[in-house]
Amino acid sequence: MNQTHDTALTSWIESANSPDTDFPIQNLPFGVFSRKGDLERRVGVAIGDQIVDVGESLSANLWSGKARDVARWCDRPTLNELMQAPKESLSQFRARLSELLAGTPGDETVINPLPPGALVPMAEAEMFPAAEIGDYTDFYASIYHATNVGKIFRPDSPLLPNYKHVPIGYHGRASSIVISGTEVTRPKGQTLPSGAKTPTFGPTEMLDYEAEVGFFVGRGNELGKPVPISEAEDHLFGICLVNDWSARDIQSWEYQPLGPFLSKNFATTISPWVVTWEALEPYRVPAFFRPPADPQPLPYLSSEKDKNEGGIDLNIEVYIRSMMMREAHLRPWRLSSASLADMYWTAAQMLTHHTSSGCNLQPGDLFASGTVSGPDAGSQGCMLELTRRGSEPIALPNGEERKFLHDGDEIILRAYFQREGAARIGLGECSGLIVASSRR
Ligand code: MN
Repeated sequence: MNQTHDTALTSWIESANSPDTDFPIQNLPFGVFSRKGDLERRVGVAIGDQIVDVGESLSANLWSGKARDVARWCDRPTLNELMQAPKESLSQFRARLSELLAGTPGDETVINPLPPGALVPMAEAEMFPAAEIGDYTDFYASIYHATNVGKIFRPDSPLLPNYKHVPIGYHGRASSIVISGTEVTRPKGQTLPSGAKTPTFGPTEMLDYEAEVGFFVGRGNELGKPVPISEAEDHLFGICLVNDWSARDIQSWEYQPLGPFLSKNFATTISPWVVTWEALEPYRVPAFFRPPADPQPLPYLSSEKDKNEGGIDLNIEVYIRSMMMREAHLRPWRLSSASLADMYWTAAQMLTHHTSSGCNLQPGDLFASGTVSGPDAGSQGCMLELTRRGSEPIALPNGEERKFLHDGDEIILRAYFQREGAARIGLGECSGLIVASSRR
């Protein structure tokens, strides 16, 4: 950790010092935005309720050395180039930006060093996916999620024999990744209604969300050159929130033998701000504790460092707001809360495993953790688990019930780090509203 993580730091931007902001000066996440009504996309950094348009600050002679290289890569429509920057350069950029934004509001001796126009209110900006995502992979790293789901589909053998040996995943679809706030159309597909002998085609009746964390790949690896676990985190740029929308009835009919396909490729929502690997350092924890009866990971998935600090203690919450709740001006209702620290596999293990075949990852690729669920009641990160496939409906605060999602429902994911001796920093929101299937 370094001076940029210091809890005592404040910013001359007043909103950054509010106790409930996700973006205090200790965070400084990257995102891609445009000014409303302007088509040009640019890389920015969130601070309080403002965005630093770093490219706009280049003329002001504020940047030098390696920090300047990173600042120049902000003058781009995506983060792909910036994501490959050496960690050393990113660190120097972060230190310098922290210095430029530090201060006390109202202190006359601190002058805003940014040129006019380099600070954009979030309310006047539109956000876009942070990177041109070439490939997207989704893992299944929560043993609690895997066990709960397994119990529903295979009561006799909930956890398949490979689970504790191999990080399970599937190749997802990058083209349908959408930014938070984008409406999600209820997909149609083939399902086998219970008791029926032949399938039918129509709108899914079991639309679900999955609360997950996304990991953006920074530096890539060459085809045929696996990344050893000792170097895995050098290839990770940062994290965001991911909602892996899922149609459970389509999924259960199509998933054998090759895994999910159309049940998950109709939309995946991501949050706009990417919290960097350096920013999340204060919240690292040991990897999942494997009871002595569990197999130890194979050597290529194992390192002392990863075992001791491979976990990330991020709290993830899921909220719902139905159409009726919106009309009654009710606030979003919390469905669940879980911690990323409860995942069976670490980010480093997932990345190393992904490349262990020689598969090449590229800057801007995204992989997600899989549904984040914990051991306790109320920590299940999808409706399939919360309602046991619809058999135990959830009551909403206005008396409505849910087995799965209805048209007009909005799902909002939020996540934050909170730890004694460290600042509270957040990931912002990842939201999506369900709209009815198209008629065609
Ligand atoms: Mn998933």
